[in-house]
Amino acid sequence: MSRKMHHSNSMEEFEEEMAQDAPEDQGPWLVCPVCNGEGKTVNPNIDCNGLTREDFDDDPDFREDYMSGMYDITCQACRGLRVIKKARIEELEQNAEDRRMTARENGDFESWCGAGDWRFG
Ligand SMILES: [Zn+2]
Repeated sequence: MSRKMHHSNSMEEFEEEMAQDAPEDQGPWLVCPVCNGEGKTVNPNIDCNGLTREDFDDDPDFREDYMSGMYDITCQACRGLRVIKKARIEELEQNAEDRRMTARENGDFESWCGAGDWRFG
């Protein structure tokens, strides 16, 4: 793969290069896409594989707890800061990919399903 110098095709590539050159300045703060700026998320262990209506119908108490935020944890992506740097987003992407690889190697289908959930940090 040849790396073109001084031919950034997009602002994104340019920013990526800048981020690599200057680890101290990782670009502007972005609203955390994982918690949407809330600083917290529902614990991914609860619903990363998707809850169905039945899960709530079978257990109304669980539904109530879930809705009341009892399972909320500090957002692992932004660590509760509500904002995030692009470099961290790339890290989350990488972490999700790593989790998926590990789950696949272990033949752990359940983990594999939730592996792409960025709420795991
Ligand atoms: Zn967040």
